[in-house]
Amino acid sequence: MRLYNTLSRGVEQVDPVEPGHVKMYTCGPTVYRYMHLGNLRTFMLADLIRRTLEFEGLRVTQVMNITDVGHMTDESSPEAVDKMLLAMEDEGLAPLEIATKYTESALADAQAVGIRLPDQLPKATEHVPEMLELTQTLLDRGHAYVVDSGSVYFDVTSFPGYGKLSGNTLDNLREGHRDLETDPRKRNAADFALWKAAGPGRVMKWESPWGEGFPGWHVECSAMSIEYLGERFDIHTGGTDLRFPHHEDEIAQSEGATGHQVVSIWVHGGHLRLSGQKIAKSTGNVIRVPELEERNLDPLAFRWLCFQTQYRSEMDFTWEAMETADQRVRQLRRHMAEWAPAAPALDTPAKGFDARFREAVADDLSMPTAVVVVNELDRSPEVEPAQKYALLASWDHVLSLDLEREAKAGWEPSEQMRALMAERDDARTAKDYTTSDRIRDELAAMGLEVMDTAEGTRVRPRG
Ligand SMILES: [Zn+2]
Repeated sequence: MRLYNTLSRGVEQVDPVEPGHVKMYTCGPTVYRYMHLGNLRTFMLADLIRRTLEFEGLRVTQVMNITDVGHMTDESSPEAVDKMLLAMEDEGLAPLEIATKYTESALADAQAVGIRLPDQLPKATEHVPEMLELTQTLLDRGHAYVVDSGSVYFDVTSFPGYGKLSGNTLDNLREGHRDLETDPRKRNAADFALWKAAGPGRVMKWESPWGEGFPGWHVECSAMSIEYLGERFDIHTGGTDLRFPHHEDEIAQSEGATGHQVVSIWVHGGHLRLSGQKIAKSTGNVIRVPELEERNLDPLAFRWLCFQTQYRSEMDFTWEAMETADQRVRQLRRHMAEWAPAAPALDTPAKGFDARFREAVADDLSMPTAVVVVNELDRSPEVEPAQKYALLASWDHVLSLDLEREAKAGWEPSEQMRALMAERDDARTAKDYTTSDRIRDELAAMGLEVMDTAEGTRVRPRG
């Protein structure tokens, strides 16, 4: 599989550090609010990469963090109000109850859109010791400094590669950049917090060598990715908004602490817009999985909708397009039920389609091309129905649209099968066993199990 690497600005072959075993890290949800479809599109990107690599026969270990500490941006001053506190005031729940509630809903929504849960889901609050250790290492190596308030900052001038991911090099960074903290005690405007002293508005805080405080958001991902995947791993994913400062700072921390490159390929997904508008919780311009279900739309069809757009591009969600995607997925499932059962082996035209599908997903996850291949196969007169079934069932390991749902739920023999069954029953009545055996073999060759019952010949898909 080849992927576009934001770091090198080119498409690269996934060449795992450990042969045959790809390790990937995904920036996960913040759990004091519900996830919306835009978040799910980003998590689906990681899921599709994982599924494609597994489809190619590789082993994949995927880790996704759960951000359950209330900080979100680096612009919050030590006095800023903890967003977790705001959620607690709104909902009357304790911090852990808030985190549990939104973690559960995030994972349920992810599964509803066909995302397989990562192998590990480490929580930030359970890895504060690792973050303190990383912060100490950066202090020891001269990449960080403590200010008198008890906060620890990363000194960006100590890391020559700063800016290599996002292009926001120190030369480009102007003082007062809106994404940067404005603590006057910092040495450089672009320095970012590894550890922040707890102000009065802080609910979740921990003891540290520098006083009571809480970890910076970026240090969370450096500490947990290295803890679970080691000092060199293959793929790191996230939304395009995380390139700067989050991932830029993560590179500075991880490479500053280890002294070498940690992540090989950085993959970033484009944003989702709603009917041309930016998703903004403040204006209520947000759609969640339960709203799809309320409209009788299959959440899995959101995948098919996402497949129409290249993952790096911005994508526009409209209800009309979502309804079209829903109808198309249902139609494919109906076709699968008509084509069942699967052919035992692929013939030449089917193999051609299979090669095209595999090439599309391996080519930097070209899902719009994969969709074209699915649509062409669906109406192709050259491929036998049983072969179409076998192909789509196999491709569904990547697509995850539950395409066999109808075929497995209520399978019915085709008209041709029913004609053969009636012919066989007539032969048996006439005691013509040669003919009845020949038809039984014919049905078996179609992938069917043939049963003799009191009502005559019955068939069902084998296996
Ligand atoms: Zn992260």
